Amino acid sequence: MVQDLRERGIGDERVLAAMARVPRERFLPAEFAAEAYASSPLPIPAGQTISAPYIVAVMTAALELTGIERVLEVGTGSGYGAAILSRCAEQVVTIEYHPGLARSAARVLDRQGYHNLEVRLGDGARGAPDRAPFDAISMTAMASGGLPEPLVDQLAPGGRLVGPVGPGPRGGDGELLRLRSDGHLETLMPVRFVPLISEPS
Ligand code: SAM
Repeated sequence: MVQDLRERGIGDERVLAAMARVPRERFLPAEFAAEAYASSPLPIPAGQTISAPYIVAVMTAALELTGIERVLEVGTGSGYGAAILSRCAEQVVTIEYHPGLARSAARVLDRQGYHNLEVRLGDGARGAPDRAPFDAISMTAMASGGLPEPLVDQLAPGGRLVGPVGPGPRGGDGELLRLRSDGHLETLMPVRFVPLISEPS
Protein backbone atom coordinates (compact mmCIF):
# COMPACT_ATOMS: atom_id res chain seq x y z
CA MET A 1 0.00 0.00 0.00
CA VAL A 2 2.76 2.45 0.93
CA GLN A 3 4.62 1.80 -2.33
CA ASP A 4 1.41 2.48 -4.23
CA LEU A 5 0.92 5.73 -2.28
CA ARG A 6 4.48 6.81 -3.11
CA GLU A 7 3.95 6.05 -6.78
CA ARG A 8 0.80 8.14 -6.70
CA GLY A 9 2.73 11.14 -5.41
CA ILE A 10 2.44 11.02 -1.62
CA GLY A 11 5.81 12.23 -0.36
CA ASP A 12 5.11 13.05 3.29
CA GLU A 13 7.25 10.53 5.18
CA ARG A 14 5.36 11.06 8.45
CA VAL A 15 2.09 10.11 6.75
CA LEU A 16 3.64 7.16 4.92
CA ALA A 17 5.19 5.85 8.15
CA ALA A 18 1.85 6.13 9.95
CA MET A 19 0.08 4.30 7.15
CA ALA A 20 2.71 1.57 7.19
CA ARG A 21 2.18 1.02 10.92
CA VAL A 22 -1.59 1.22 11.41
CA PRO A 23 -3.28 -2.15 10.72
CA ARG A 24 -6.19 -1.06 8.54
CA GLU A 25 -7.91 -4.46 8.77
CA ARG A 26 -8.61 -3.89 12.50
CA PHE A 27 -10.90 -0.98 11.64
CA LEU A 28 -13.05 -2.93 9.20
CA PRO A 29 -15.96 -5.34 9.59
CA ALA A 30 -14.52 -8.89 9.49
CA GLU A 31 -16.01 -9.62 6.06
CA PHE A 32 -13.95 -6.84 4.47
CA ALA A 33 -10.68 -7.46 6.32
CA ALA A 34 -9.18 -9.29 3.33
CA GLU A 35 -9.68 -6.16 1.21
CA ALA A 36 -8.19 -3.82 3.79
CA TYR A 37 -5.26 -2.74 1.60
CA ALA A 38 -7.19 -2.39 -1.66
CA SER A 39 -7.14 1.11 -3.11
CA SER A 40 -10.85 1.71 -2.68
CA PRO A 41 -13.28 2.92 -0.02
CA LEU A 42 -15.06 0.12 1.89
CA PRO A 43 -18.38 -0.08 3.74
CA ILE A 44 -18.55 0.25 7.52
CA PRO A 45 -21.72 0.10 9.65
CA ALA A 46 -24.45 2.80 9.62
CA GLY A 47 -24.24 3.06 5.82
CA GLN A 48 -20.89 4.88 6.04
CA THR A 49 -17.50 4.25 4.45
CA ILE A 50 -13.84 4.09 5.36
CA SER A 51 -12.09 6.29 2.79
CA ALA A 52 -9.62 4.79 0.32
CA PRO A 53 -6.01 4.78 1.58
CA TYR A 54 -4.99 7.33 -1.07
CA ILE A 55 -7.65 9.81 0.09
CA VAL A 56 -6.62 9.36 3.74
CA ALA A 57 -3.01 9.99 2.69
CA VAL A 58 -3.82 13.06 0.56
CA MET A 59 -5.97 14.61 3.30
CA THR A 60 -3.46 13.93 6.07
CA ALA A 61 -0.52 15.19 3.99
CA ALA A 62 -2.50 18.34 3.12
CA LEU A 63 -2.69 19.15 6.84
CA GLU A 64 1.12 19.56 6.83
CA LEU A 65 1.58 17.95 10.25
CA THR A 66 4.97 18.00 11.98
CA GLY A 67 4.06 16.14 15.18
CA ILE A 68 3.29 19.05 17.52
CA GLU A 69 -0.22 19.91 16.39
CA ARG A 70 -3.63 19.81 18.00
CA VAL A 71 -5.95 18.27 15.41
CA LEU A 72 -9.71 17.98 15.02
CA GLU A 73 -11.25 15.28 12.83
CA VAL A 74 -14.91 15.55 11.84
CA GLY A 75 -16.25 12.08 10.99
CA THR A 76 -14.53 9.36 13.03
CA GLY A 77 -16.19 6.54 11.08
CA SER A 78 -14.11 3.42 11.65
CA GLY A 79 -11.42 5.29 13.59
CA TYR A 80 -8.72 4.54 10.97
CA GLY A 81 -8.18 8.17 9.94
CA ALA A 82 -7.99 9.19 13.60
CA ALA A 83 -5.30 6.55 14.19
CA ILE A 84 -3.25 7.94 11.29
CA LEU A 85 -3.69 11.51 12.56
CA SER A 86 -2.70 10.55 16.08
CA ARG A 87 0.62 9.18 14.78
CA CYS A 88 1.30 12.42 12.90
CA ALA A 89 0.27 15.01 15.53
CA GLU A 90 0.34 15.60 19.27
CA GLN A 91 -3.35 15.51 20.13
CA VAL A 92 -6.47 14.51 18.24
CA VAL A 93 -10.13 15.13 18.96
CA THR A 94 -12.40 13.19 16.60
CA ILE A 95 -16.19 13.59 16.44
CA GLU A 96 -18.69 11.09 15.05
CA TYR A 97 -22.42 11.59 14.55
CA HIS A 98 -23.50 7.93 14.71
CA PRO A 99 -23.37 6.51 18.27
CA GLY A 100 -22.57 2.94 17.16
CA LEU A 101 -19.60 4.09 15.08
CA ALA A 102 -18.30 6.38 17.83
CA ARG A 103 -18.50 3.51 20.33
CA SER A 104 -16.79 0.94 18.16
CA ALA A 105 -14.07 3.35 16.98
CA ALA A 106 -13.35 4.34 20.58
CA ARG A 107 -13.06 0.68 21.53
CA VAL A 108 -10.73 -0.24 18.64
CA LEU A 109 -8.54 2.82 19.21
CA ASP A 110 -8.34 2.24 22.94
CA ARG A 111 -7.37 -1.42 22.46
CA GLN A 112 -4.53 -0.32 20.22
CA GLY A 113 -3.24 2.17 22.76
CA TYR A 114 -4.01 5.49 21.08
CA HIS A 115 -4.03 7.66 24.17
CA ASN A 116 -3.43 11.06 22.57
CA LEU A 117 -6.88 10.85 21.07
CA GLU A 118 -10.42 11.62 22.24
CA VAL A 119 -13.51 10.25 20.47
CA ARG A 120 -16.64 12.36 20.87
CA LEU A 121 -20.23 11.78 19.86
CA GLY A 122 -22.05 14.69 18.24
CA ASP A 123 -22.37 17.05 15.32
CA GLY A 124 -18.79 17.60 14.25
CA ALA A 125 -19.76 20.51 12.01
CA ARG A 126 -19.93 22.52 15.22
CA GLY A 127 -16.35 21.61 16.03
CA ALA A 128 -15.13 21.33 19.62
CA PRO A 129 -15.13 24.90 20.96
CA ASP A 130 -13.88 23.76 24.38
CA ARG A 131 -10.70 22.36 22.76
CA ALA A 132 -10.19 25.03 20.09
CA PRO A 133 -8.17 26.46 18.48
CA PHE A 134 -6.87 23.66 16.24
CA ASP A 135 -3.73 23.72 14.13
CA ALA A 136 -5.35 21.36 11.67
CA ILE A 137 -8.91 20.21 10.98
CA SER A 138 -9.81 17.25 8.78
CA MET A 139 -13.45 17.05 7.73
CA THR A 140 -14.13 13.62 6.26
CA ALA A 141 -17.72 14.05 5.04
CA MET A 142 -18.98 16.30 2.26
CA ALA A 143 -20.45 19.67 3.21
CA SER A 144 -22.99 21.03 0.76
CA GLY A 145 -22.95 24.68 1.73
CA GLY A 146 -19.22 25.37 1.86
CA LEU A 147 -16.80 24.70 4.70
CA PRO A 148 -18.74 24.97 7.99
CA GLU A 149 -18.23 28.36 9.63
CA PRO A 150 -17.66 26.98 13.18
CA LEU A 151 -14.73 24.93 11.86
CA VAL A 152 -13.21 27.93 10.11
CA ASP A 153 -13.59 29.91 13.34
CA GLN A 154 -11.81 27.19 15.34
CA LEU A 155 -8.61 27.33 13.27
CA ALA A 156 -5.51 28.58 15.09
CA PRO A 157 -3.39 31.24 13.40
CA GLY A 158 -1.52 29.40 10.64
CA GLY A 159 -4.02 26.51 10.81
CA ARG A 160 -5.29 24.40 7.90
CA LEU A 161 -8.78 22.99 7.28
CA VAL A 162 -9.08 20.20 4.71
CA GLY A 163 -12.38 18.71 3.59
CA PRO A 164 -14.72 17.94 0.71
CA VAL A 165 -17.38 20.37 -0.40
CA GLY A 166 -20.04 19.45 -2.93
CA PRO A 167 -23.06 20.85 -4.60
CA GLY A 168 -25.79 18.65 -3.08
CA PRO A 169 -26.95 17.61 0.41
CA ARG A 170 -26.67 13.88 -0.43
CA GLY A 171 -22.89 13.71 -0.78
CA GLY A 172 -21.41 12.31 -4.00
CA ASP A 173 -19.19 14.38 -6.30
CA GLY A 174 -17.40 17.45 -5.05
CA GLU A 175 -13.99 18.97 -4.50
CA LEU A 176 -11.43 18.51 -1.78
CA LEU A 177 -10.54 21.96 -0.43
CA ARG A 178 -7.81 23.31 1.82
CA LEU A 179 -8.42 26.56 3.63
CA ARG A 180 -5.66 28.33 5.54
CA SER A 181 -6.45 30.53 8.50
CA ASP A 182 -5.43 33.60 6.48
CA GLY A 183 -8.28 32.86 4.06
CA HIS A 184 -6.19 31.29 1.27
CA LEU A 185 -8.35 28.61 -0.36
CA GLU A 186 -7.11 25.85 -2.70
CA THR A 187 -8.88 23.10 -4.61
CA LEU A 188 -6.83 19.92 -4.20
CA MET A 189 -8.73 17.36 -6.30
CA PRO A 190 -12.18 16.12 -7.32
CA VAL A 191 -13.60 13.60 -4.80
CA ARG A 192 -16.68 11.53 -3.90
CA PHE A 193 -17.75 11.46 -0.24
CA VAL A 194 -20.66 10.60 2.01
CA PRO A 195 -22.59 13.71 3.10
CA LEU A 196 -21.89 15.71 6.22
CA ILE A 197 -25.02 15.34 8.33
CA SER A 198 -26.15 18.80 9.27
CA GLU A 199 -28.39 19.55 12.19
CA PRO A 200 -30.48 22.70 12.34
CA SER A 201 -28.77 25.19 14.61
N1 SAM B 1 -12.45 9.07 8.85
C1 SAM B 1 -13.28 7.89 8.72
C2 SAM B 1 -12.52 6.61 8.76
O1 SAM B 1 -11.28 6.64 8.79
O2 SAM B 1 -13.18 5.56 8.79
C3 SAM B 1 -14.10 7.91 7.45
C4 SAM B 1 -15.18 8.83 7.53
S1 SAM B 1 -16.59 8.55 6.53
C5 SAM B 1 -16.01 8.91 4.92
C6 SAM B 1 -17.47 10.01 7.08
C7 SAM B 1 -17.95 9.93 8.50
O3 SAM B 1 -18.48 11.20 8.86
C8 SAM B 1 -19.05 8.93 8.72
O4 SAM B 1 -18.71 8.04 9.74
C9 SAM B 1 -20.25 9.78 9.13
O5 SAM B 1 -21.10 9.15 10.05
C10 SAM B 1 -19.56 10.98 9.74
N2 SAM B 1 -20.35 12.20 9.79
C11 SAM B 1 -21.20 12.71 8.88
N3 SAM B 1 -21.71 13.89 9.29
C12 SAM B 1 -21.17 14.13 10.53
C13 SAM B 1 -21.30 15.17 11.47
N4 SAM B 1 -22.10 16.23 11.26
N5 SAM B 1 -20.60 15.08 12.62
C14 SAM B 1 -19.77 14.03 12.86
N6 SAM B 1 -19.62 13.01 11.99
C15 SAM B 1 -20.30 13.05 10.83
